[in-house]
Amino acid sequence: MISVPRYLDYAATTPCSGEVLAAMIPFFTECYGNPNSLHIFGLKALDALESARKSVSDLISAEIEEIVFTSGATESSRMAIERTVTYLASKTGRNKFITTKSEHKSILDCADYLKSRDIEVIYLKVKSDGLIDFDHLVDILDESIGLMSICMVNNETGVLQDIGRIADLCHAKGTLLHSDATQGFGKIPINVKDLDVDFLSASGHKIYGPKGIGILFYKKSYKKFIRVPLANRDVEFGLRAGTVPVALCVGMGKASEFAKSTMATDLIRITNLRKLLLDNLFEALPEIHINGSVESNYPGIVNLSFRGCEGEALMMECKRIAVSSGSACTSNKLSISHVLEAMGTAPDIAQSSLRISIGKPTNDSDILIATEDLISATTKLRQMSPIWDMIKAGMDISSIFEGKHCAYAV
Ligand code: PMP
Repeated sequence: MISVPRYLDYAATTPCSGEVLAAMIPFFTECYGNPNSLHIFGLKALDALESARKSVSDLISAEIEEIVFTSGATESSRMAIERTVTYLASKTGRNKFITTKSEHKSILDCADYLKSRDIEVIYLKVKSDGLIDFDHLVDILDESIGLMSICMVNNETGVLQDIGRIADLCHAKGTLLHSDATQGFGKIPINVKDLDVDFLSASGHKIYGPKGIGILFYKKSYKKFIRVPLANRDVEFGLRAGTVPVALCVGMGKASEFAKSTMATDLIRITNLRKLLLDNLFEALPEIHINGSVESNYPGIVNLSFRGCEGEALMMECKRIAVSSGSACTSNKLSISHVLEAMGTAPDIAQSSLRISIGKPTNDSDILIATEDLISATTKLRQMSPIWDMIKAGMDISSIFEGKHCAYAV
């Protein structure tokens, strides 16, 4: 019998919590009204929608009318980035956009779209620990930049950027700041007023809410930048079209309340579980590396490289855990993570990386199973690996990994 592996991939997605599901069900069955309808069914739906919006805004200290529900962080970021940048380029002549090469694919796609619209995209350097290079930022910021977008917590490495400091530098030049906070929202304290961020994207399914729902926070005064002509834009303050999925919004609201009340204890517990994992692995295995800053991170995302092993092989070998590899097999070619590549990680280290992400349900036993599997799989793969023999002999193996393509993780 195949037993279900321990889930350690909470950065990819989380299970919907029982409380969230229970709060949503009536909005599929009894209170199924359209919040735009003027009868009692509609009014009940509208009431639920607005209290969900309040729960979300409370979590990040935003105003209620500064939250728009979307289908997820991907849509939120597109709304903020593509609309704001094109608006500013046409109205103010600020026709450049800054981001980094270590962003989530959803942001890199926006950058590609903007390039196709003749917007210049400038990629800010990230250092080997994944944090941005502030000197480079100071060099490239000027009056021609409309918007910058930076991930708050990187989805592959957990690296946590100093959004407040970045916002100050951007604003000094009149540049606006968007942050993809999908991996930090509901997990670390976020106060949009203190950070002074102009736009922020988040998603329901990373915080034990349903899939298919997210939010965009926008500063009230910048709403005009993200309004576009839509045939049926009478929903979500005129920012979206169609029928609002009230049950999903209720789920996102409930998940936000739940996150707010458990965040402090979760953070302590998750930090301890991370420490347990790292202590066990570092004690048992030589030549393992933490990818990303050890000083500034969200502790629930641990990105480790096990030199001499290939990430995918390691993942397959660890049968009792479900984790993500930083590499992926595309078109029969082994690829390395675009995030680690942007950080300038040596290809052999990038190739041997795994992301282990810890969530609310994770306990000591999950971490012990994970460490047992990782230690035995690494030992086994290294015994069969000619590369490991070369590493042990102190040889330079970088040329073996040249020309690897990069991969995008969820
Ligand atoms: N940004 C980051 C950093 C993410 O981790 C994810 C989810 N993998 C997304 C954006 C996309 O979120 P969604 O699935 O809600 O569109």
